Amino acid sequence: MAGELRWCMVASIPDLTSDAELTLEISRCYGGSMTLPNWKIGRALGIPIHIHASWFAVFFFVTWSLATGYLPEMLPGLSAPRYWGMGGIAALLLFLSVLLHELGHSYVALRYQIPIRQITLFIFGGMAHMGKEPPTPRAEFLIAMAGPLVSLILGAGCLGGAMATDALFAGSGLQGLVVLGGLLGMVNVQLGLFNLIPGFPLDGGRALRAGLWAWSKNFDRATGQAALTGIGFGVALGLTGAVLMVGSWFDGREDSIATDGGWLIFIGAFLFSAALASRRQATMRTSLSSVTVRQVMVHPVVLVPPDMTLQDVVDQYFVAHGFGGFPVCEEGQVLGVVTVGDVQAVSTALWPWRRVRDIMSPVSPSFCIPPDWSVMQAMEGMAQGGWDRLVVMEHGAIVGLITRSAIAQFLELHRA
Ligand SMILES: [Zn+2]
Repeated sequence: MAGELRWCMVASIPDLTSDAELTLEISRCYGGSMTLPNWKIGRALGIPIHIHASWFAVFFFVTWSLATGYLPEMLPGLSAPRYWGMGGIAALLLFLSVLLHELGHSYVALRYQIPIRQITLFIFGGMAHMGKEPPTPRAEFLIAMAGPLVSLILGAGCLGGAMATDALFAGSGLQGLVVLGGLLGMVNVQLGLFNLIPGFPLDGGRALRAGLWAWSKNFDRATGQAALTGIGFGVALGLTGAVLMVGSWFDGREDSIATDGGWLIFIGAFLFSAALASRRQATMRTSLSSVTVRQVMVHPVVLVPPDMTLQDVVDQYFVAHGFGGFPVCEEGQVLGVVTVGDVQAVSTALWPWRRVRDIMSPVSPSFCIPPDWSVMQAMEGMAQGGWDRLVVMEHGAIVGLITRSAIAQFLELHRA
């Protein structure tokens, strides 16, 4: 092969299979940078594929570092436009590799009936947004391993292809193809190996959580422990990057080592904050599992009769009590829920004429829960029904109301 293949750290690309809550936490850590625009570029396995605005920055960076560093070194004597063209193609193929890695995770997740809302390519690589957590440790392990497996197989294929081309057609002008194949092979092998690092939420960390989960039978505790290793690896990567960077300045070694160091610091910080967010979330879930609905619910409950006009409801309930919504109740039966939003959707001129019954959102029996449920169960109930409050019933009577804001307030108080 033309020269020796250089290990390029810039190809240490993390990917995440993440639930919606974690995505939100991460974007909060990065000052809402995940809210930048993103574009749908297609669909695979029925999953929408999106490109995030930050992806263009890293695409340009990879193209630039290949066109000005890697390629001129491996294939001397070509023109600059050739290097940039090849760099651009290689960068595109690199992101295609990341996409295939994500599709590996997604394929197994879909087999376990876990919906994948979308796959996003962004500055750190790729992210598959899972609709819910895996049902069993075994499912979690297989979903986590599928991505690196795809990358390692692709990597072996590309490296094998490049070596065979080099051996069979030596000196026939296919050197460019050999170099690209070799680069892509290495990138894929590295993508597979890097993500096997056992720090949650990297794939290796997910496999670790699956093991801890199977052992302790406690999902949240396993998440907390696996996230701790993620925090540790995040710090270790950041320090390694800093040592590389400082070392290259003192020795006056190649710039690429300083760049690699910078990238490692960047990745380390990302892993650190993602792991920290997961750990915080797990701690919160654990504490909410030990708190009962009875401890958090508000009571007595203010109920609205269904035949009242909107004008009266606004004057006598919304203004007087200051709540965002009320259960609508008739003869001890909960019929629905009426919120500020429901009332606002009706023009004020109609308020004296329209009745609560006409505009309330009707509810199903799962809107009423017993007081001995845990707050965590209540939150899952709210998420499933798309409600932000639930009625608490005991022995056929309404005894309280649990709302998202009351839970947030409870957490806030107990953090202090
Ligand atoms: Zn992965």
